[in-house]
Amino acid sequence: MSRVALKRLVGKVAVVTASTEGIGFAIAQRLAEEGAKVIISSRKPENVEAATRKLLSQGLEVKGLTCHVSKPEDRKKLFEAAQKLGGLDILVSNAAANPTVGGILDCSESSWDKIFDVNVKSSFLLAKEAYPLLKESRAGRIIFVSSIAGMNPSEYLGAYAVSKTALLGLTKAVSLQLARDNITVNSICPGLIRTKFSDAITSNEVFEEAALANIPLNRVGEPVEIGGAVAFLASEDGSYVTGENLVIAGGMPSRL
Ligand code: NAP
Repeated sequence: MSRVALKRLVGKVAVVTASTEGIGFAIAQRLAEEGAKVIISSRKPENVEAATRKLLSQGLEVKGLTCHVSKPEDRKKLFEAAQKLGGLDILVSNAAANPTVGGILDCSESSWDKIFDVNVKSSFLLAKEAYPLLKESRAGRIIFVSSIAGMNPSEYLGAYAVSKTALLGLTKAVSLQLARDNITVNSICPGLIRTKFSDAITSNEVFEEAALANIPLNRVGEPVEIGGAVAFLASEDGSYVTGENLVIAGGMPSRL
């Protein structure tokens, strides 16, 4: 049984990419807890199977599919599955790659291309491909998962940070075009959240302490804290919010 009392998403269908672990999983879980039917996905079939099993065992309505967001045929499957569930109301584009750590000018061309392909181009393509279905919803929602690094790049997350800044621009641009269809388009900027992705920092006492020095709430965030914020944007409660970037970062400095 769901531990969330709010049921703002009953009757809605959501696609959440990269949702078998971490932030994406917590978002999918929360949307489903609030009543949405959620299509979850990631690259590895075993991860899809385990996450689907876990959410189904909680009584939630989910469908699991394998999808590498850079593969057109995989993205197509997501929207076909949504259509079978009655349409699409909510798209959460959450996948990201960060193959290199280091200064921006030390990034190889191939890493740069991969980062921009997964983080930016696939978000653009997912939005473009979801648009006809979201239009039919008459109250569609797109949420791009950016990062606090998109506002304040750290020296070691060079190219990744620039890709996340690009998502802030994508949010503004897509929100303008889709406003006429009553589709809201927002992004979220998580700070340091405890997942596999951030493990290199949070599993090292020295690194974590250095990171906490820059977080006024003085703790690492949890994926569940991101799920709640996305549910707000996805629900009718967020109906007048569009073109915005919601920072969820424990008070970290966040101006571009
Ligand atoms: P995570 O715990 O490492 O989970 C990553 C998820 O993405 C897994 O389910 C993985 O499953 C899937 N995935 C990876 N590459 C994919 C691809 N190309 N196509 C489809 N699925 C893919 O990561 P996370 O920390 O939750 O990060 C999620 C998002 O939050 C990212 O956009 C990241 O930039 C952003 N973010 C994270 C933090 C943080 O501190 N954690 C902070 C700011 C922003 P498979 O391996 O099966 O594909």
